[in-house]
Amino acid sequence: MRDDIEEIMFTPEQIQSKVAELGMQISDDYRDKNPLVVCVLKGASLFMADLVRNISIPIEMDFMAISSYGASTQSSGVVRIMKDLETGLENRHVIIVEDIVDTGLTLSYLRDSLLRRNASSVRIVTLFDKPSGRKIEIIPDYSGFQVPNAFIVGYGLDYSEKYRNLPFVGILKPEIYS
Ligand code: 5GP
Ligand code: MG
Ligand code: MG
Repeated sequence: MRDDIEEIMFTPEQIQSKVAELGMQISDDYRDKNPLVVCVLKGASLFMADLVRNISIPIEMDFMAISSYGASTQSSGVVRIMKDLETGLENRHVIIVEDIVDTGLTLSYLRDSLLRRNASSVRIVTLFDKPSGRKIEIIPDYSGFQVPNAFIVGYGLDYSEKYRNLPFVGILKPEIYS
């Protein structure tokens, strides 16, 4: 698995210290709001697990699965809800936890769809952001690292369902997907 990685971009230590920072900011901003923290499966699952342990105020957690990529490395723009939330959103402050924002199509769809359920507010926290990939304007409210336009894997991020369990984030060798 490690042999398929061209270059390590973020070590486990770098990731953990960034996640701690994000958790502290969120704790400050959401005091007394009991936010609903929504993990977008599967990519954000590792980030979610570490992030909530760095949030020091009461929260609730829920999970959602959407699909826009298939097995390719390019966003299709077609978003399907594969698993919906169990929590009603009326009068809730929602924080969407994403692994990475690229074109922005997935999050833009998701944010609108949660706002239509009468959430009081919907904010986005993403660990990684690829601003150069945007096809629709969307700015994450909390963002860990900006990354260049390369395909990265590890710490929840997959290629064809592999590599999610790598403890670091790296660039996949192009020959793996070409
Ligand atoms: P968007 O709709 O913003 O283009 O796509 C967001 C989703 O595409 C992410 O949640 C993630 O699942 C996938 N994605 C975008 N860029 C990358 C990347 O560099 N590596 C991996 N593994 N997935 C990515
Ligand atoms: Mg994702
Ligand atoms: Mg994926």
